[in-house]
Amino acid sequence: MLKWAMATHPMSYHELRAAIARPEPPEPVACPVCRLARRALLLWIEDLVYSFGVDPQVRREVRVARGLCSRHAHLLTEIRGMALGVSLIHLDVIDTVCEDLENRTAAPPGSAASADLADGLMARLRRGAAVARLREGIRSAVAPARSCLACEHQREVEELYLTTLLRHIGDAELAAAFAASPGLCLPHFNQAAALASDAPTLRLLIDAERHCLLRLRDELAEFARKNDHRNLGERVGPEADAWIRSIDHVTAMGSLR
Ligand SMILES: [Zn+2]
Ligand SMILES: [Zn+2]
Repeated sequence: MLKWAMATHPMSYHELRAAIARPEPPEPVACPVCRLARRALLLWIEDLVYSFGVDPQVRREVRVARGLCSRHAHLLTEIRGMALGVSLIHLDVIDTVCEDLENRTAAPPGSAASADLADGLMARLRRGAAVARLREGIRSAVAPARSCLACEHQREVEELYLTTLLRHIGDAELAAAFAASPGLCLPHFNQAAALASDAPTLRLLIDAERHCLLRLRDELAEFARKNDHRNLGERVGPEADAWIRSIDHVTAMGSLR
């Protein structure tokens, strides 16, 4: 792990409870772990871009990873002041790819262009081997040799928040806040289940999540009912945006997944 990886994320029960109780505008109403992880990730990515300019180890790791994965790279466009940092990162990545391409796809000594035109079994085998070698050269120049740094950090942040949630899920105050919240998105519900180590905690988690799921389910059913041509005159209620919230709930929020 890079030395600054967790530096910006002190964990606290109060932070989690506040996030469950209410989103900070303009954050959407969604899974609290999605919101906290996204907030933490935006700060961390900002740090990463800054560190890239001053820390050779960070530069090396980012280069080996060929930048960030698609969803985290696109988060960069949501942070102000990233233009120069992003340019420097991708300048470095593209330079590395070009250098690797040159090294790994250069024609071997002694290979003549005329061999490409020759006929016969041996010539065809040589051409097949040359194609395979070039493809492998391209693959190894382009493919990341390590996972996305932001993906690794996101998982650590999510696990910290989920572990805190599990530790306090029996607290009356937290349980009440959770019941009033949208609950965990399905990917984070599943991730929490993998982190829980005893059946009573898992039972509390299931009951809390099921309560939130059933409420969303009822809102979706109500939305569908009011969109039936026989009920089109009825006043729209809080179910109006349930279909949007259901996307976040089933898939995790926006660019986090
Ligand atoms: Zn989530
Ligand atoms: Zn990523």
